[in-house]
Amino acid sequence: MTTKHKTTQEPPVVLPTGLDAWLLDCAPVKDCARCQSEWRQLNAAKNKGSITKAAKHARNVRDHAGGH
Ligand SMILES: [Zn+2]
Repeated sequence: MTTKHKTTQEPPVVLPTGLDAWLLDCAPVKDCARCQSEWRQLNAAKNKGSITKAAKHARNVRDHAGGH
């Protein structure tokens, strides 16, 4: 049995990614080369910390997703 002192229920650490998540929200179509290309660039930009650039690609995916 584990020794419990006090069960202080701390809320999980939430990273301030709300805005990023919104900016990068998109649904690339799996078998669409254009979507996948934009999606890859989005992630590459995101990994480099270029959220603005990533957001642009996310927007491209969103725009394209509406035109399938
Ligand atoms: Zn597409």
